[in-house]
Amino acid sequence: MLDEIGHEMARRDDRGAVATYIPELADIDPDQFGMAVATVDGRVMVTGDADVPFSIQSVSKVFTLALALGRHGDGLWHRVGREPSGHAFNSILQLETEHGIPRNPFINAGALVVTDAILEGRAPKETLAELLQFVRAAADDDAIHIDADVARSEQETGHRNMALAQFMAAHGNLRNPVEMTCGTYFHQCAIAMSCRQLAMAGRFLVGGRDMPGLVARRRMRRILALMMTCGHYDASGDFAFRVGLPGKSGVGGAILVIAPGRASIAVWSPGLNANGNSHLGTQATEVFATRTNWSVFD
Ligand code: GLU
Repeated sequence: MLDEIGHEMARRDDRGAVATYIPELADIDPDQFGMAVATVDGRVMVTGDADVPFSIQSVSKVFTLALALGRHGDGLWHRVGREPSGHAFNSILQLETEHGIPRNPFINAGALVVTDAILEGRAPKETLAELLQFVRAAADDDAIHIDADVARSEQETGHRNMALAQFMAAHGNLRNPVEMTCGTYFHQCAIAMSCRQLAMAGRFLVGGRDMPGLVARRRMRRILALMMTCGHYDASGDFAFRVGLPGKSGVGGAILVIAPGRASIAVWSPGLNANGNSHLGTQATEVFATRTNWSVFD
């Protein structure tokens, strides 16, 4: 069935538009599509460009959230909320009225607070090493790395993220220097992975005896709840409506989707829709969830 979806997507000529804010994303061939499914019984199925590495961008927010919750437990929720924002990923609007407390950990402001939380008491290098170690352990793949060119470009163009961070610092919601928190965040966005690697890495959120037990069950449920309600920025409701599975998108065109108790699914196609989520990636997961009846509401 995966190949069927791969072929269907390869034929499509509506592909959305690639992100243009950095050359490393702007120059990517929009005709690519890959998908990988890692099931609870240990199988991995792939189709299309499933072994081509891409920039995971905001999908990294899932991994940093898992780490931050592991370190700070529920204390994290004093600094970041758990409500969908209804605004764009990089919006500054609510920060002003809500005293520097971002709505959720998956919009940029919230992700910056989460990164700040895992940085506490550590150098950025150590923090990034810990993050990479977590992702590599989850994926069972030591080749996963950070793309230095993407990280540099993120840094050069990251004015808005720095503004978000400064704003939160003004409200006392950052514990590290803004440059340090933003620098670490820019590097986490620059992690490069293929669909196969990302699907493997997502297994820690599936549950099941043979899945990597990197987070407690209770924590896993909460991360999934946030992915369902906040994982697609201001299109989170639409993704839940169409797909019915928790997912997290990134502006590089990746989406990590979890079918609890069944599988971790990674899809990538670099063309984005108007909300900054992968156009074909969203459509492919919708088709997949419909054909498998794997929506959590089925
Ligand atoms: N590096 C991007 C930013 O922070 C990531 C955004 C995304 O993937 O949605 O603006």
